[in-house]
Amino acid sequence: MDATDTIYALASAPGRAGVAVVRVSGPGSRAIAEAVAGTLPPPRQATLRTLRDAGGAAFDQALVLNFPAPASFTGEDVLEIHIHGGRAVLAQLLDRLGELDGARPAEPGEFSRRAFLNGRLDLTEAEAIADLVDAETAAQARQALRQMSGALGALYDDWRGRLIRVLAHAEADLDFPDEDLPEGIAGALRPAVEGLAREMRRHLDDGGRGERLRHGVEVAIIGAPNVGKSSLLNALARRDVAIVSDIAGTTRDVLEVHLDLAGVPVIVADTAGLHEAAGDAVEQEGMRRARRRAETADLVIVMADCADARSFARRLTDYGLADSPGRTVIPVANKCDLAGAPDGDWLPVSVRTGEGLPRLLDLLGDRAGALIAGEAPPITRARHRQAVAAAAEALERALSAPLPELMAEDLRLAARALGRITGRVDVEEILDVVFRDFCIGK
Ligand code: GDP
Repeated sequence: MDATDTIYALASAPGRAGVAVVRVSGPGSRAIAEAVAGTLPPPRQATLRTLRDAGGAAFDQALVLNFPAPASFTGEDVLEIHIHGGRAVLAQLLDRLGELDGARPAEPGEFSRRAFLNGRLDLTEAEAIADLVDAETAAQARQALRQMSGALGALYDDWRGRLIRVLAHAEADLDFPDEDLPEGIAGALRPAVEGLAREMRRHLDDGGRGERLRHGVEVAIIGAPNVGKSSLLNALARRDVAIVSDIAGTTRDVLEVHLDLAGVPVIVADTAGLHEAAGDAVEQEGMRRARRRAETADLVIVMADCADARSFARRLTDYGLADSPGRTVIPVANKCDLAGAPDGDWLPVSVRTGEGLPRLLDLLGDRAGALIAGEAPPITRARHRQAVAAAAEALERALSAPLPELMAEDLRLAARALGRITGRVDVEEILDVVFRDFCIGK
């Protein structure tokens, strides 16, 4: 990948559409505009142009936008060409761009990569663009937009900046020990390091809400065969995804539907029925998967038949869920069109008549919403979690380091771990602070 190449790609969705947008970035953008659209349009003004092929024949009337470097998405000269979204028009434009010197199709993510390399985005912002494009619910989109606006990157940069200042003091003291510090440099820097470690631990302890929102809140429906689990999944999805049948044991694997409950993404999984007298190997495997799904799910709907009078507590014990009080379990008694609910704990529903389903959906939405609620920007990826955890561990090591040299090394490791999240890892920066914040030659 050579950054001096000029790259181009369809930026809108493939297929027939009213309008399609082709993006071009790189030093050849001006020449491309002149070749395809006659002249380069004035900066940032949508300009109507006739697009022409190599022989000078017109193939579309398009809006062409010119974003000169560095004030563009990638930081390079960028063109946006808004053509009519027909396959033939697009094919002609892409063919034409391919004929021009130094222009080539972009690799996946290459526009954002260039934006990062040119300092227009940090890595968390680049990741957020991908999340915003992939977002399926409003809450997911809000989280991505917040991250894209730099909220998460700003948090990590703030920590890193504070850490670099502490590190600069520690390093300066190694070279020029300060006789005025009775408790030594480690003692003097202790409160700042402790404060940072505490903030990082609090950030890590966010209950996984950001990752959960990105991925979707996982809900498992478990219960005995034939209580109506697949029927509930179908009712929730309002389409036939699970095979509903009168013969017990039809759902042998795990089927999922993705729901949007007031903006919160929820993935509901139907599982094989749990019962003692499991038949063949396939059925036993299905039950094993059902239990595992229930163990890893964020929420569990335990479903029973209204005609079955066993208590909810007894049922949780049967399913091995009694020992997990932290898990949110929603007890649902189905087929209340045939019999009354067994006791007060159960939410009575009838998937057949629809009775009780709105309450179940409300409850599900509330519980799922509670799992992702929170004020501070949450961790959204395992990559960030690992780096923040590594930084917090390094700070904790620094606090108990026996020598100032070792303390400085741990602080350096912590700063580097944070720098990996946003993509800013640069030792020069530490030197800059040393010489800006201190008067070493005093
Ligand atoms: P699963 O084995 O738990 O997934 O159960 P299914 O969803 O396959 O349902 C088993 C049977 O119960 C099917 O014949 C469904 O039509 C029936 N069923 C599901 N929900 C209800 C309900 O609310 N009332 C009644 N009367 N029958 C239901």
